[in-house]
Amino acid sequence: MTWHILGAGSLGSLWAARLASAGRPVRLILRDRARISAYEEAGGLTLVEQGRAQQHAIPAELPSGSGPISRLLLACKAYDAEAAVQPLLQRLAPGAELILLQNGLGSQDAVAKRLPHARCVLASSTEGAFREADFRVVFAGHGFTWLGDPLQPAAPAWLEELDQAGIPHGWTPDILSRLWRKLALNCAINPLTVLHDCRNGGLAEHPAEVGVLCAELAELLERCGQPDAAEGLHDEVLRVIHATAANYSSMYQDVAHGRRTEISYLLGHACATAARHRLSLPHLQGLHERLKAHLQQRGLPVT
Ligand code: NAP
Repeated sequence: MTWHILGAGSLGSLWAARLASAGRPVRLILRDRARISAYEEAGGLTLVEQGRAQQHAIPAELPSGSGPISRLLLACKAYDAEAAVQPLLQRLAPGAELILLQNGLGSQDAVAKRLPHARCVLASSTEGAFREADFRVVFAGHGFTWLGDPLQPAAPAWLEELDQAGIPHGWTPDILSRLWRKLALNCAINPLTVLHDCRNGGLAEHPAEVGVLCAELAELLERCGQPDAAEGLHDEVLRVIHATAANYSSMYQDVAHGRRTEISYLLGHACATAARHRLSLPHLQGLHERLKAHLQQRGLPVT
C-alpha cells in the first residue's frame, strides 16, 4: 500500500526517505504547483545522515491529485493540520488510516472531527531533524516515536513496515498520556527559555519559577484524567533541563528564526483545558500572557 506523506519538511522527509529506502511505495503531497516545481528543480528529497547526503527521487503530487489515499502521514505543523486535510477528503478511501505527527494537543481532534470515517493514529516523537535548505533535511538526533489510537487499542499491521524502514517506534494503548506528558514538559521548559533568552540549562537559575509551573501542570493533568502523566513531572523536568542544558528549545529556535510557534497546541491548549475544568492556574496563565506579549512584540502570531 502506498504511503502518502503530506509535508516534505523535517519529519515528513525523514519518514519518506526511510520508507522509500526500504522499498515501500511513497508519494509526497506538496501544497501547490510552485512547491512541485521547486521540488522538481531540487531533483528530489535529500536526507543528510552523519554528514552523508543521499537523494531520493520520490514522486510528488498536488493535494488535488487523482487516486485514492488509503494511508496518509500528516507531517505538517499543528497549526496547518486541519486546513491541510481539507482538500484530501474526497480522495480518502473507505477505511483510510492517518498518522498524525503533530506535537502538542488540539490539532488531532480538529482533524479527526473532519474525518469521522477514517482511523486517526496519533504519534509523539522525540526524533530530531531540521531543514538545511528546501527539500534538504538533516537527521539531527536519534529518538523514538510512540504511536496509538485512543479509540481502537489494536495495533495496525503496517507497524511491520516501520520496522523494515528502521523507524524506531512503539505502540501504546495510552498515547494521550504520552502526548499530555510531552506537552507538560514543553510548557514547563520552552516558554521560559524564550522569555529568559537562554538555553535549556539556563533554567537551572530559575528553580522557583520552574517548580511552581510543574505543580500547576501536575494539577491540570490530574484534573483532566491523566494522573500517570502527572507523576514525577517536576523531577523529569529537572532531568531534562540538566541533560539538554546546552540545547536551545524548539520554541526558542522558532522565535529566534522569526517562525510561527505551536503555542496554541502547547501552552494555549493547557490554559484552555484548565479554563474548561474551571481550574485556576495563575502562573501558567501568566506565562501564557507573557509569551503572547513577547511574540506580539516580535510580530509573530500569538496563536
Ligand atoms: P516543518 O519542517 O516545518 O515541515 C512542515 C511541512 O508541512 C512543510 O514542508 C510545509 O510545506 C508542509 N505543509 C504545511 N501545510 C501544508 C499543506 N497544506 N499542504 C502540503 N504541505 C503542507 O515541520 P516539522 O519540524 O517536520 O514538524 C512537523 C510536526 O512534527 C510539528 O508538530 C513538530 O512540532 C513535530 N516534531 C518535529 C520534530 C523535528 O525534529 N522537526 C521533532 C518532534 C516533533 P512548505 O515546505 O511548503 O512550507
